[in-house]
Amino acid sequence: MIYADNAATTKLDIDAFEAMKPFLLENYGNASQPYSFGVKAKRAISEARKTIAECIGAEPEEIYFTSGGTESDNWAIKVGSKVAKSDGNIITSQIEHHAILNACATLEKTGIEVKYLPVTHEAVVLPEILGQMISERTSLVSVMMANNEVGSIQPVKELADIAHNNGALFHTDAVQAVGHIEIDVKALGVDMLSASAHKFNGPKGIGLLYIKKGINVKPFMDGGAQERGVRAGTENVASIIGMAVALEKNCKKIVHFKNKMNDLEKLLLLKLDNLNVKYFRNGALNHIPGNISLSFENFDGEVMLHRLDLTGICISTGSACDSVNTRISHVIKAMGLPDEYAKGTVRISLGRDNTQKEVRIIAETITDVLKKQIMR
Ligand code: PLP
Repeated sequence: MIYADNAATTKLDIDAFEAMKPFLLENYGNASQPYSFGVKAKRAISEARKTIAECIGAEPEEIYFTSGGTESDNWAIKVGSKVAKSDGNIITSQIEHHAILNACATLEKTGIEVKYLPVTHEAVVLPEILGQMISERTSLVSVMMANNEVGSIQPVKELADIAHNNGALFHTDAVQAVGHIEIDVKALGVDMLSASAHKFNGPKGIGLLYIKKGINVKPFMDGGAQERGVRAGTENVASIIGMAVALEKNCKKIVHFKNKMNDLEKLLLLKLDNLNVKYFRNGALNHIPGNISLSFENFDGEVMLHRLDLTGICISTGSACDSVNTRISHVIKAMGLPDEYAKGTVRISLGRDNTQKEVRIIAETITDVLKKQIMR
């Protein structure tokens, strides 16, 4: 198998797995219990919180553990809605993950207005458009750090400055960015940031929400006193430890991994060019290394996915077909890609375990699939 869908999820890092094992098998104590067996788990969580905070330039007490990116995003949107004025609004972008878009849709049903920022053809939110849309009625602006479908990195610092100048909080969904590009929450000036471990070689079902000190945090889940009383539920100790090990490892080698991804990406495109494949590359020049969204004219992305699957290659699409229609993703639509290209969109997302040989095979297999289609 060649796994090239790392934006969907990544392989668990072996050191992260080894670090998790004792907390599943031997040190299984409840971190909230006062006896030493519980305290051991509590101490390990505290160390993990410190490690994770250092990786993103935060203070340990600004890190709140959650069940993943979806929960962190929902929490952030709800923090924003709690501070919303009665005639207030929230601003997000048209290309957010459904964790944000559907959380916003729920808020809209309660009467809170949500405004959606358009994007350029390269899937980038322009700060000047936020400047025109925002007002003193805006309580929260939420714009992702990097788009999951096409990889475009957003001008988060500029957007956060505009939000603050208008008295609004700023949240960023950094699920695709943390562990892949350098992140410093203080330099970016964000108030909240979501991350998810399984996108950076950590375990699934664990993530975090960074909430800047001083922000009035309302509980997301009611229950016990865990996470300083604002996120109840017995701590997922082993996964928290695994997340910290995976993130620290990726962050220490971030330049190395970025260079590797950039080289593999160049090789893939060069190989496709040499094989005379016609494609359109989506997204911005400034993107998450290894996230390659390609559109093939008058082709079907889902057909490409299944043909590659038959040869053992895993990739993703930007559209999904049912028996009647092809549904083009909201991101591809927002970018305004013409229909004849939009339907033929696929995402190849390379990870740190991919090799040059694998990339060559991916390019050759794509070429074969396209050629066979033309011959029909
Ligand atoms: N936000 C973005 C940008 C994502 O790519 C994803 C996952 O694909 C999520 C949020 C949801 O994260 P999780 O799978 O941890 O719930």
